[in-house]
Amino acid sequence: MKKTTSKPTFIPRMYCNLFGHEYEVTKKVTYHVKEYTCSHCKKQLTTNSNGRLTELTPKFKEINAILERIHANRMERSKKKTLASSIY
Ligand SMILES: [Zn+2]
Repeated sequence: MKKTTSKPTFIPRMYCNLFGHEYEVTKKVTYHVKEYTCSHCKKQLTTNSNGRLTELTPKFKEINAILERIHANRMERSKKKTLASSIY
């Protein structure tokens, strides 16, 4: 008998249905926006503009990528500002 290599995904899902998802923070996009992944079924969530958790769809991934870039730029600029103010 040949063993099937594909993992049975219905078991973790069933576990989540019974006990609820166990989300871990997988990415910090900004101070307020984070991405979460369920350690059992790998379902992904993110913080939306209302501060609530929502499913991490490709659209939200795109938004988060943009937010991350803006956030990084802002951090960079504030770093430069404090540097400049310490000089003068
Ligand atoms: Zn889950």
